Amino acid sequence: MHNLVLKPFEGKKALILGVANERSLAWSIAQHLYQGGARLAFTYQGEALERRVRPLAESVQADIIYPCNVSEDSHLDSLFAEIKNQWGGMDILIHSVAFANKEDLEGRFVHTSREGFRIAMDISAFSLIATARRAEPLMEGREGSIITLSYYGAQKVVPNYNIMGVAKAALEASVRYLAYDLGPKKIRVNAISAGPVKTLAAAGIKNFKSMLAASEEKTPLHENISADDVGSLSAFLCSSYAKHITGSTLYVDSGAHIMGV
Ligand code: NAD
Repeated sequence: MHNLVLKPFEGKKALILGVANERSLAWSIAQHLYQGGARLAFTYQGEALERRVRPLAESVQADIIYPCNVSEDSHLDSLFAEIKNQWGGMDILIHSVAFANKEDLEGRFVHTSREGFRIAMDISAFSLIATARRAEPLMEGREGSIITLSYYGAQKVVPNYNIMGVAKAALEASVRYLAYDLGPKKIRVNAISAGPVKTLAAAGIKNFKSMLAASEEKTPLHENISADDVGSLSAFLCSSYAKHITGSTLYVDSGAHIMGV
């Protein structure tokens, strides 16, 4: 039996990639980890987002606030060098990053360009491998937890989600292969497949509003999820309650994924 632990992440160090603003799923995850006692590091993608991310990060007393474009190896190398330098190691990696060109998130999937495919796969899927590889030595002996964010469009066709569905499929498969590789070091790797939430990234998907409406109407629970649901599931996955869960994609989508029609 587990005792209820009020500060399950006391002494833990968590690196969070993917906060853009206060609506970001990563921000809710960060708040849950902070409330659980974790020390936090944040990245931001470019100066414009730094203005949004820095005050949020400071409000949870972040130790590290660092620039990082995940498609640049040099950025990743210097980020993880900074983590090693300041923290010595780390326990939690939150990968909450995705991107595809706007023209690839509408219309016919068959028109996806070679460059559009490359960009979406690189930023949305390969970046998990690239960050996990760099986190591995820093998590050694610390029972690390790595979490990424996916969506049901990885499994079934969701009109307009297009190339991002293919990237999320690659992401979910990468979770399984990474879980196998890192398992012997007691590092767990899981994906959270979330229902639609209105965020900056979601705004890039054509007809996102109708996805929200459909999910409210058709899911078993007849209500949309919030970023807070993703935060609490992340806290569970990073905690010792989930110490034998790895390689999984867990759904927090009001049951949408069980529906056939
Ligand atoms: P968001 O816009 O707040 O977060 C996306 C983040 O990706 C941003 O912080 C952005 O800076 C970052 N990013 C994009 N390209 C990058 C790059 N090259 N280098 C570094 N960072 C980069 O939106 P969100 O909805 O919180 O998205 C977070 C994750 O959740 C994404 O993987 C998204 O696909 C996933 N997700 C979102 C929903 C939803 O409905 N919002 C549902 C399921 C899954």
